[in-house]
Formats: sequence, C-alpha cells, structure tokens
Amino acid sequence: MGLTLAAVAVMVGQLGGCGQTVAGNPTVEGGIDTTDAGGLEVTDGPTGAREGVPDADLEVENSDGGEMDRLALNAVADLYDYWDEQLPKHFDGEKFTHIERLVSYDSEGEPLTLCGTTTKDFQNAFYCGGGGEDMIAWDRGVLLPALADTFDPISVVGVLAHEMGHAVQFRLGEKSNMSQSTPTIVREQQADCYMGNFMRYVAEDKAKHFQLNTGEGLNQILATLFSIRDPAGYDHMTEGAHGLAFDRVYAFQEGFTKDPKRCAEMDSEEIDGRIAEAERSEKDEQVDGNVDLTEKNLGLLQDSLDEAFKENGAEQPEITDNGSKCSQGEATSPATYCAEENIVGIDVEKLQQIAKAPAEGGQPNVDGAGIGDFAAFAEIASRYTLAIQKQVGADLANENAGLRTACLTGAWAKTTVDEDQNEVDGKLHIAVGDLDEAVAELLQDDSLIAADVNGKQVKSGFARVEAFRRGYFDGSGTCTEQFS
Ligand SMILES: [Zn+2]
Repeated sequence: MGLTLAAVAVMVGQLGGCGQTVAGNPTVEGGIDTTDAGGLEVTDGPTGAREGVPDADLEVENSDGGEMDRLALNAVADLYDYWDEQLPKHFDGEKFTHIERLVSYDSEGEPLTLCGTTTKDFQNAFYCGGGGEDMIAWDRGVLLPALADTFDPISVVGVLAHEMGHAVQFRLGEKSNMSQSTPTIVREQQADCYMGNFMRYVAEDKAKHFQLNTGEGLNQILATLFSIRDPAGYDHMTEGAHGLAFDRVYAFQEGFTKDPKRCAEMDSEEIDGRIAEAERSEKDEQVDGNVDLTEKNLGLLQDSLDEAFKENGAEQPEITDNGSKCSQGEATSPATYCAEENIVGIDVEKLQQIAKAPAEGGQPNVDGAGIGDFAAFAEIASRYTLAIQKQVGADLANENAGLRTACLTGAWAKTTVDEDQNEVDGKLHIAVGDLDEAVAELLQDDSLIAADVNGKQVKSGFARVEAFRRGYFDGSGTCTEQFS
C-alpha cells in the first residue's frame, strides 16, 4: 500500500465558485427524536479532561511540553486502550500495534520534514503510513489551539480519534476494504466511523482521561468533523474528497451506534449509493476567502432569502442592523426575529466574529476564531424563516419550531449552492463545501439555526443535522409538513 497522508486542514469558505452535488442521499423517514443521541439519551454532564488522573506515559518527538501535547498524548493513550481491546474482539484476534512515531510540531516554528512534507505553515494533523512510516503528527502551534478555542478542547481528542481511525484502517488492510485503489472518500468515511466508535466509549464514561456528554459535548465533536480535511493533492485519485457535512455525520453516527466491524464494511459500492457529494473540485478546497458582512453582502443575502421563499406569500422581513433588538418582546442574539415589526434585527459585530475563519486568530486563548461566512449567513437566515413559519400559522415557540427552522434554513441553503456556474452575477452563491460551515455553526451551543423564536435549541445534534438535511434535499414544503 502506498503513502497515506490524512490531514486536518483549516476550514475554508467562499462566495462564488463551484461545487457539485448529486441527488440521492437517502432521507430517513418518520419523526425525529430530539432527545436521542445515537441511542443514548441527551445528557448535560461534564465534557473534557477528567480531573486527578495522571498524565499518560507516552513519548512524543519534538514536544514543547505544553498543554496541547499533554492533551494529545492523553487522547492517544485512551485510544490505545480502546483499540487494544476492540481490534482483537472484532477482527479475529488481530492485535493492535501502537503507533511507531508520535510527532508534535509548530507550523509557525522551526520546520520539520514529515512524510515528505515540510511542516512550515502546515496547519494539520495527520496519519502517515506505508513506505516504512507509521506516524501520527499534529500542529500544536496553530491548528490544535484554534480547534480548542473555536469548538472545545475535546475537539483535539476528536481529531486524534479520526487520525487513529486511519491507522486502524491501515493495519486492517483488506479486512477494512483497503487496497491501493481505495478512493479517499471511503478512507474518510471509515475514519469518521472509527472516530464514532471511540467517542461512544468516551460518552459511556469508559475512557481514562476524558469525558463527553451527549448534549453540547457531542455536538462539539460533530462540529469538529468538518474541520478534519485532507488537503488537495495528496491523493491523485480524488483530491480532498471527504463528503458533505451530512455524509460525515452519517458515518460518525454509524460508528457511534454500531461496532468497528460496521466501519470496516464501508466500501465504494455502499458509499456511492448514499453519498450526497460525488466529488468536490480541487478549487473548492483551495479558495479560502471569507467575505465580510458588508451592506452589499447583506443585500445579496436578503435577495436570496426573498427569492427562496417568495411562494410562501409572507410579507418578507427586512434584515436590519440594529444590534439584534425588537421594539417589543424579547430578543435573541446575534439575530432576532421581531414578529410585530416583521424585521430580522442583527448584531453585525457579533456575526462578523462568527464569519471569520477558525484559525484566523490562531493563538490559544485569543478570542479570534470564527466558523466562516456561511455560518453567519445561516444564523440570519434562520430568523428570517420564522416569518415564513408565522405565515402558515405555525407555533413559533416549541421544539418543532426549532426543527422547522433548521429544515427551512437547509432549504434556503440549497438554493444558494452553485452547481455548475462560476460567474459573478450579483447573486449569493456558495460552494457546496461551505455547507460545512452552516452545519458546524448549527451544532454550536449558542446557535439559533435549530432554535425557536426564543432561542430555545433542539438538544440533540444528530436531530439538528437531520432536520437541516431534510430541508436541503426535499425543499421547504417538507419542513412545514413534517414538523407541523
Ligand atoms: Zn482523514
């Protein structure tokens, strides 16, 4: 088997550009259980490092002895515990050999050459196997602190669980459907699935160093999924393909609810039949512009929302930069729907923060990171859809309203995805990859995308994503039908 380099790259976003979607992603029929997290009840216990547990006794090359390496090594130790037990259990006694080299680096510090690549400005975590290498490496300088800052320190554990998934896959070889020609999308879906196996173990309180609640904690892990990306160019067959947000949540959820054998079964045939994204253009992966919330861009957003919901017949609410306030009644932040005035009041400063790329601030403990521009647009769109819901006489203040809001925001998002054109024509266009930003944002514990008019959120992240997905694939009609 050749070189496997699986990596985490910083999130990118763009307005304009092109992407491709292929219809056919299966939509689960029936209701959505908002209190269920992959077979576990949604809980709000502790998430993060356990207190009073001694640090792992593992060696890492090139460490600075700091917090990120400590976190990463404790995660690796828990992953070893898990796979030492699970690999033989599910794969005919196959013994799990530990990783030969663990390497820490700072993408802004003294560069190393790892796996044939310089670590200079390489904001990644990756597994490298084959050609005599068996290594997991991580950027302790920029990437890990940015993830911990944008999401939660448990994100660092999630990222390492994904990379360890690649190591498991590499060790299993044919038993995990791997060959020289296995497409990237299969490798990625499996790694997300193996990550789900391990995070279930953490959620069930079995890991030595970490804990995870199935509410906000698990939602942060799901959000982290979308910043685990393979950079274009490492696999000449399918550059950078990792699937849409929906595909990745599906693979993770399979792992979270089933055993590692299920992940090993995933192959091209299965994945081709259910994947929402066939292929993402290399260009999509490389463009990294996040636009600002200028008056012009907010105007484009307004137009796209008016267009998406024009058949609803509602008087279209105007997006108004007023600090997210209503003249009467309570407001939500960073955007609010004021039913009386029929406006969507927004706080541009707060939204601008969300619109920044995650690693832009870069440094730990600096409040400089965001999710991306489409995340901010989706927050505003979610409040706009409340006017649409009001028009059909729906109750705006209950859990169904949260699901309906996510669903309608998904329906709007679909109308902005630019499938084949690439010109600037005065409309809001997103690349299909920007959807990741909206879904990552939807999973945040202060997000409004799956929240009712008062900002009360649907608890289960899996339920939030499912509602968004139904709107995206089936259109706005399904939202008012299914969540009446
Ligand atoms: Zn990967």
